[in-house]
Amino acid sequence: ERGIVEMRGVSFAFPGAEKPVLREISFLAEPGMTTAIIGGTGSGKSTLLNLIPRLIDATDGQVLVGAADVRSIEPDRLRASIGLVPQKPFLFSGTVATNLRYGKPDATDAELWQALEIAQAADFVREMPEGLDTAVAQGGTTVSGGQRQRLAIARALVRQPEIYLFDDSFSALDLSTDARLRAALKPVTSGSCVIIVAQRVSTIVDADQIVVLDDGAVVGIGTHSQLLDSCETYAEIVSSQFAAQEAS
Ligand code: ADP
Repeated sequence: ERGIVEMRGVSFAFPGAEKPVLREISFLAEPGMTTAIIGGTGSGKSTLLNLIPRLIDATDGQVLVGAADVRSIEPDRLRASIGLVPQKPFLFSGTVATNLRYGKPDATDAELWQALEIAQAADFVREMPEGLDTAVAQGGTTVSGGQRQRLAIARALVRQPEIYLFDDSFSALDLSTDARLRAALKPVTSGSCVIIVAQRVSTIVDADQIVVLDDGAVVGIGTHSQLLDSCETYAEIVSSQFAAQEAS
């Protein structure tokens, strides 16, 4: 079926590295579902996500998209089916419009505005009064971190992919903007397979399934309430974040 992402016993080591970054990862992410990946810094979350569009290839095991091994899918077709919003999105020098049309050159202005509206048009208009014609410097250095993430989200929305991969895409936003943006994304991404990498528990509590990574291995899969009772690593992440919140 289209839009299904599955990992079967996937391991990955960077070339020349002794220790694998990912060890025998298995999970299934279905269309219409939100799958969250959580774990400490360096637990392998970004590496895991990068296997799906084949930015890197598994050392062992299989990564499947739509029930086919990603290595058997024509690279352009694979990438066209995936909207990856990277942790540090790259913006080109040009305008907001040229940045959003990347990946869908024939998109109309109306389509670009629609995507921007979902990715928070109110703030967009305030920060970028020239709208689609606003100049963006190479690397996006003239744009705030939060706007850079939101433009990268809008860029993915314009392409309407079967699979959305959000790599910590909400981390530069305050908690309430994070929540509003995810609520706005829900109806547009609802038929797609959504995979969200996050550090913040609040971003992923309502995910259909949460995959907990610890040092490159899956130590728990379930909903928030299931994991609280069954996964020590998850319970620790949750309690440390609540403790930090209460201290502030
Ligand atoms: P996370 O997203 O959970 O913070 P990453 O997937 O970015 O973790 O990194 C997992 C591990 O892989 C870390 O120990 C990191 O140092 C290492 N790593 C990441 N990128 C590279 C690279 N290009 N070469 C070698 N090691 C890397």
